[in-house]
Amino acid sequence: MIAAQFDAFFLDLDGVVYIGDEPTPGTPLVLKELRRKGKEIRFLTNNPTSAEEIVRRLRSLGIESQEREVVTSGTATAALLAAKDLRKAWVLGHKGLKEALLARGVTSTEGDGCDAVVVGWNDDITMADIREASLAIRRGAFFVATNEDRTYPGPQGPLAAVGTLVEALVAGSGQRPISVGKPQPFMFDVALKGLGRGKRAVMIGDTPDVDILGAHRSGLPALLMGEAVTFPYDRDFRNPDGRIASLEDLFDESLSVGEWDGPSYAWPERVEPGVAAIVLEGERVLLMRRRDNGLWGIPSGHVEPTETVAGAVLREIREETGIEAEVTGLIGVYSDPRSQVMTYPDGRIRHFVTTCFLCRPTGGTLGRTGPETLDAGFFPLDSLPEPMMAMHPLWLADALAGSKEPFIR
Ligand SMILES: [Mg+2]
Repeated sequence: MIAAQFDAFFLDLDGVVYIGDEPTPGTPLVLKELRRKGKEIRFLTNNPTSAEEIVRRLRSLGIESQEREVVTSGTATAALLAAKDLRKAWVLGHKGLKEALLARGVTSTEGDGCDAVVVGWNDDITMADIREASLAIRRGAFFVATNEDRTYPGPQGPLAAVGTLVEALVAGSGQRPISVGKPQPFMFDVALKGLGRGKRAVMIGDTPDVDILGAHRSGLPALLMGEAVTFPYDRDFRNPDGRIASLEDLFDESLSVGEWDGPSYAWPERVEPGVAAIVLEGERVLLMRRRDNGLWGIPSGHVEPTETVAGAVLREIREETGIEAEVTGLIGVYSDPRSQVMTYPDGRIRHFVTTCFLCRPTGGTLGRTGPETLDAGFFPLDSLPEPMMAMHPLWLADALAGSKEPFIR
């Protein structure tokens, strides 16, 4: 029985606790029974409003709750701003969001005086608001989105949601926001903080790439309620650890949830093509030191639009070291997420599929480098500089193995 496996139940609202203006079948009774058994309940909603408004809404559906049990993308945003000591926010949102912020000491200010721009829900946003708020972000205001849901279900099909307004501000400001709502981990962190130590929690949601992904990013097991389609790859973070038809299934003696056995890597937002080069000159290899992380590595980078992988690698060698080179062989194609998922200092997470070539220098001037490089040079194979990018010693070893077949790792 799932109810017996956990101490705390994190519930999505729309699609799990209610659909439209009706509670889902059996839910008011199930919640009562969970409480009677001493279970903790948390309501996690991307709706950027106050806890008070959610309590009121649940009461109108016959469900009693307390404000301390509610985590909205609005209350979590308020907690984030308060933790950063940002007290004056330009709120592109409605009254409920402003109340949630004020409850944590964050007041609403428009124009130059703001130290944060908060994007929530407001039907009355104008082009002038988008223009001025974008300017505030360009001038240094902290840019935060309560959530980036692009649509929500409507009677005639998907309807535009907060994420569409976020994209307008991204276009206007040239920056991406910190995003608070599911599937980011902030709301789960807030919900977990309120529980005692060692309490076992499970997330129940109806949207794989919001509820399930968010729970897994936070290390929690997750159940999918309803009919949503899942993904064919079994290690996909968006796939649930079990499915239920209704919350009544929590008391089904025949059901249980497997633990989320989270891998060591973070969930990447996208997959990108990369290239890398082992440039050998006799017993020496060409290395460069990266400005973004200070690490030594072989020349490497992105494939740009319309570029071939071979063209990209020769360009990267030139830009990063000043050396001209030619491709003499293929070492391998590397895509294992355990080594190929990268988290950048600004928080971006990318999964690279990297084609690694063997190359030979043909000319150029060592050290005539672009802005990404701190230093470059040829190093003897038996005394490489430290510290090195994690995967590059393996690629070098593959290059030196003398295999006729390329490695596929
Ligand atoms: Mg939902």
